[in-house]
Amino acid sequence: MIPHHGISTAERIRVTPSAARIETVYEQVISRNPGEHEFHQAVREVFDSLPKVLSRHPEYVDASILERLCEPERQIIFRIPWTADDGTVHISRGFRVQYNSALGPYKGGLRFHPDVLLGTVKFLGFEQVFKNALTGLPIGGGKGGSDFDPKGRSDAEIMRFCQSFMTEAYRHLGDRVDVPAGDIGVGRREIGYLFGQYKRISNRYESGVLTGKGITWGGSLVRTEATGYGTVYFTEHMLATRGRSFDGATVLVSGSGNVAIYAIEKVHELGGVVVGASDSSGSVYDPEGIDLALLREVKEIQRGRIADYAQQRPRAEFLPERRVWAVAERHDIDVALPCATQNELNDDDAATLVRAGVAAVAEGANMPTTPEAIRVLRQAGVLFGPGKAANAGGVATSALEMQQNATRDSWSFEYTEQRLAEIMENIHARCAATAEEYGIDGDYVAGANIAGFTQVADAMIAQGVI
Ligand code: NDP
Repeated sequence: MIPHHGISTAERIRVTPSAARIETVYEQVISRNPGEHEFHQAVREVFDSLPKVLSRHPEYVDASILERLCEPERQIIFRIPWTADDGTVHISRGFRVQYNSALGPYKGGLRFHPDVLLGTVKFLGFEQVFKNALTGLPIGGGKGGSDFDPKGRSDAEIMRFCQSFMTEAYRHLGDRVDVPAGDIGVGRREIGYLFGQYKRISNRYESGVLTGKGITWGGSLVRTEATGYGTVYFTEHMLATRGRSFDGATVLVSGSGNVAIYAIEKVHELGGVVVGASDSSGSVYDPEGIDLALLREVKEIQRGRIADYAQQRPRAEFLPERRVWAVAERHDIDVALPCATQNELNDDDAATLVRAGVAAVAEGANMPTTPEAIRVLRQAGVLFGPGKAANAGGVATSALEMQQNATRDSWSFEYTEQRLAEIMENIHARCAATAEEYGIDGDYVAGANIAGFTQVADAMIAQGVI
């Protein structure tokens, strides 16, 4: 097996018998899920936090919790035929992985992106299980999506695709069964088309079947902002442990989608300046700070690229094909928030950030930081907030949306944001306290993994072998 985090398998096994069990299960994960590297990576990261937990809790080993957690409860793969505007017929592949329902109905977003494979959805679903547990709200974990590429597609094509997706998916969903939301390539427009088709097929106005809905038809205020805002709140709590804050901080944010835009907004509200953002074609360096109104205009109205932003902003510079971390080669950076996609911040990027003086990195995206990069950051004493904890505000606010739907109520922006802020504070406190309990103060990765894992494991044991 490839050594991971610089520790060989033999070394790990020497530590405890629990570690030996973990390695056996991990080998099974690799052989039962060949080629699903992102899934392996997500499992490895959680497993690395567990030896002490299993030593303290042999009941988890006896109940085969590890083995059960590595096998989703249900995996659905389906054909999605759709017709383009020019009359050509296309076939995409749809996925829904109903990962774990120990704590509540399956809950997690849909991703529409050409790179989506079953292994991508499984890694996201696996992460989601622990993230949802950390919110303290009654939601299980799931994830879904398609290899459909929405880029350059007309509104009508997007609608037909979403309708075709839902025509198959609806039979697996329900407000007490499985509740999807947005993710990469799926925003309010797509949720609208998906909801419309669900309503049409089921003949039910079942608001709680999807979250991220429009405000006038069952959506929750703050849901759009929640992931980005929550990531910044989490980072604020991490910074506070070192007597620091966002006030006057220089920040890099990767991506320019939903999570990135609202992370930028909250950083600016708290007195920081975001000097770089990106998309898959390159990055923008904007020394005066990203003009959020312009960025939103470009992304949400013009549906343009980050290069279009740079063109309309005189002092900004477009860095084609470069990741945003390249900005740290020429500018001191206090905080980095990866908010685009998985494995987008590697060890070289981490070293660049460390040289630029970074104090904290928090994951707005899911698994954006490679294991090697996490090691570089931790060795340099950088505060590191893993996505499971740092970006949990999105799904938490989705659960608040479900709560409003169930009571046919709608809450004010201020009240909902207050709830989000409290949830993020609790998640931070829970990760910190769990890390301390296990003698690894300040290790938010282990804190998040252990707190999420034990909650799910206890519920699974209580519910029997199912
Ligand atoms: P969006 O589709 O709104 O934005 C994604 C952004 O990331 C875009 O700027 C996109 O650029 C960029 N991006 C996507 N893929 C790549 C890639 N392969 N290489 C470089 N850049 C890329 O998605 P979200 O903002 O909703 O999601 C971003 C991340 O946050 C994802 O990891 C998602 O799982 C995670 N997340 C989202 C939540 C939510 O509530 N939306 C909740 C929790 C986590 P381009 O336009 O060029 O593709």
